[in-house]
Amino acid sequence: MKKAFITGISGQDGYHLTPLLLSKGYEVHGLSSGQDRARADKFLKSFPEVKIHQGDLTDFSSLLEIISLVSPSEIYNLGAISFVGLSFKQPELTANVTGLGALRLLEVVRKMHAEKEIRIYQASSSEMFGKVRETPQSEFTPFHPRSPYGVAKTFAHYSCVNYREAYDMFVACGILFNHEGEHRGHEFVTRKITSHVARIKLGLIDSFELGDLSPKRDWGYAGDYVDAMWRMLQADVADDFVIATGQTRTVKDFVTAALEAAGLSIDIERYVKFNPAFVRPAEVDLLVGNAEKAKKVLGWEPTTSFEAMVEKMVQNDIALESAANKI
Ligand code: GDP
Repeated sequence: MKKAFITGISGQDGYHLTPLLLSKGYEVHGLSSGQDRARADKFLKSFPEVKIHQGDLTDFSSLLEIISLVSPSEIYNLGAISFVGLSFKQPELTANVTGLGALRLLEVVRKMHAEKEIRIYQASSSEMFGKVRETPQSEFTPFHPRSPYGVAKTFAHYSCVNYREAYDMFVACGILFNHEGEHRGHEFVTRKITSHVARIKLGLIDSFELGDLSPKRDWGYAGDYVDAMWRMLQADVADDFVIATGQTRTVKDFVTAALEAAGLSIDIERYVKFNPAFVRPAEVDLLVGNAEKAKKVLGWEPTTSFEAMVEKMVQNDIALESAANKI
């Protein structure tokens, strides 16, 4: 039986990747830091067959002990301080977890002399493109990160490429553009919008606050993107792949789609108030990905449309808010 070890398993992508791997017959193990006990317990309610190990990406010895014990054939490094806004407030923590955390995993595999037994997936990010040099962005586009998060992800990415080349390790990097879904954290703009629109729909609030409505993102559905991760580790050769829809939408477009999905009028000024506190110190430019290589080499393609994704998120939040408020 194949064994997978997932860092950040109780985050959004862990919720999508775990059922995919279980359905393919994998034994699934995950990493959870001691402080994340509540998150790990919630995750185990959905997936009781998963084994969660206490450790941390900032703690080499815990990683060495757990990975030696589990002896996985595949490691998915999804663990990170993943919120760009927070990374500006805690840049050093972000560098340690998101950047050095990946390096520690690579070193663990090397110290175990398991270079040929363990394949690693690194969650690289479109935030590495930041101040973009060309549009759309592909595997050949130079990086120019614009946040401590993007800088840390770029360090992790190059560390993976370096270990692939220096030690002939199978390390695949998925340069994933924004991907959203029912398990997205509430600090991200998409979930913030769908959860607030759900509350408006249920008559719990009249309006909510956002920052700049003009930034554009290439938003895909997380369920589609974890399939790409798995495909990367089944390929003959380890490589880097951009995973994106190739379409871009503004934050305002997202609000419009969410109001439509909830059956509310598209009266953005009525429902959304501007709050400068939610404006970023530095914004990334137009992020839109070219996933041709993944299509050609991995046979991967997104299957969920933007509208279908927003619909899923809004209906999920209406159901959750209804249950929480006994409506
Ligand atoms: P990421 O920055 O692309 O990882 O994802 P976010 O969901 O955090 O932000 C996407 C875009 O939405 C950014 O350009 C933000 O500046 C913009 N945005 C506008 N208002 C808000 C808000 O209230 N919260 C967040 N998180 N982002 C906002």
